[in-house]
Amino acid sequence: MEKTKAKPQLKMLHDKNLSTQMAKNYNYDVLVVGGGPAGLSAAWGAAKKGLSVAVLERDEAIGQNVRTSGVTWIKEAKSFGIPSECYNEISNYAFYSPNNYVIKKSETAQAAVLDVRKTYQFLAYQAASEGADIFLRTNVTDVIKNEKEKLSGVKATSLKEELVFNSKLVIDASGFYSVVGRSLGIALPWKRFGAGAEYEAYVDKVSPDTWHLMVGSQYSPAGYAWVFPLGKNKVRIGVGVGKPNSQADASKLLIELLEKRPKPLDDLGRIVPVEFHYGLIPNEGLRESTIDDNLIMVGDSAGQANPLVLEGIRYAIEFGRAAGKIGGESVVRGDASRESLKSYEETMKKAIGSKIAAAVKVQYRWLNLSDQEWDKEIEIIGELSAEEFLDFIKADFGMTSMLKLAAHHPKLALRQLFQIIKNTGKDSEA
Ligand SMILES: Cc1cc2nc3c(=O)[nH]c(=O)nc-3n(C[C@H](O)[C@H](O)[C@H](O)COP(=O)(O)OP(=O)(O)OC[C@H]3O[C@@H](n4cnc5c(N)ncnc54)[C@H](O)[C@@H]3O)c2cc1C
Repeated sequence: MEKTKAKPQLKMLHDKNLSTQMAKNYNYDVLVVGGGPAGLSAAWGAAKKGLSVAVLERDEAIGQNVRTSGVTWIKEAKSFGIPSECYNEISNYAFYSPNNYVIKKSETAQAAVLDVRKTYQFLAYQAASEGADIFLRTNVTDVIKNEKEKLSGVKATSLKEELVFNSKLVIDASGFYSVVGRSLGIALPWKRFGAGAEYEAYVDKVSPDTWHLMVGSQYSPAGYAWVFPLGKNKVRIGVGVGKPNSQADASKLLIELLEKRPKPLDDLGRIVPVEFHYGLIPNEGLRESTIDDNLIMVGDSAGQANPLVLEGIRYAIEFGRAAGKIGGESVVRGDASRESLKSYEETMKKAIGSKIAAAVKVQYRWLNLSDQEWDKEIEIIGELSAEEFLDFIKADFGMTSMLKLAAHHPKLALRQLFQIIKNTGKDSEA
């Protein structure tokens, strides 16, 4: 298919809000709403098919407002081609409860703390190099439909100017707010979600290859806190709160944490915040439907995050690329109907549906644990090998190994924990 560069045209809009104004009008094969990891990866995937693609991002720069702690996994980062200068490698994983502590060590580094801005901009340049356009400061406000009442583009505002973008396919990668899905009325607001507040900060000293996860009421009444190093004097310190379980304000908890400095913050010397981050993450599992006629939802917009440790970047990239590829192929075939997009949803659900469902169940258990119960839970987790521990945190519940743990581990408590995962696996396979 020939790549047609969009040229703005002026168009009179027959809309009650915009009726008196002339709107700039753009035509693209594929529109991607949101320039986070899902959107940039989707744009790359669709542009590689030779289609004209635009990413619409409301912020002034890609990665400008960091809404994530940026922990991911080296294996996946490498498979996406993310250069190693975009991340700090982690090989020790410390877990604290009020009166307990475990540390797991892997022989080689498995986890990575991303330089989020650098990584997202890497993805942006990758998409642009395949021909995708990026519109910054462009806030998508509504959808437009064709004469058959099918989705045919979006309305946006940029610098107080009204814009209209027409397309054959829209990819909703707008994150937590699912702006396109919600405008169409096919996606409801999330009822269960996590709210996280974080400082990127200078510290006098930190071990650059060790992450710290902290649980219990002194950190968060329903959730956890973290210290993720980016280097020997640079960390992300944050607190997450599960909603609606707790009404606590994550930003206030973060300030308290820096004042009270419970372990391991007491070991960091001076902590000097340099940047504040805040974000929301869905915590209900996958949306039942992530496609519609001329629409694919991807990333947080579709609920594709492992809620156990608020981790969604690798899935956003993986399924962003898949959305761009499969959606792009549908456009090339001249049919982006729901039926034509089905393989995106089926492949994605097969790959992560049961993992995310099991992670949601473990997370619900975690949100209700008392301090004493957390002390025991940490002991149970301490029984896992480093490899099992990492699979568990990643929600990479390979059914065979989890079935083994659920059935044969000598400790009853560990068998019970893995029964949750095993039963979810059965549910979702049924
Ligand atoms: C506190 C916190 C900590 C986290 N820590 C981790 C972690 O350590 N590791 C990990 O893997 N994941 C983590 N996550 C989750 C991770 O950030 C998300 O899963 C991931 O960012 C999802 O990517 P996305 O592209 O779908 O959405 P986002 O990254 O949210 O990107 C959406 C983009 O859409 C834009 N947008 C939104 N509305 C509009 C609009 N109307 N018009 C135009 N543009 C719009 C936004 O500006 C944004 O750039 C964390 C989340 C939170 C909240």
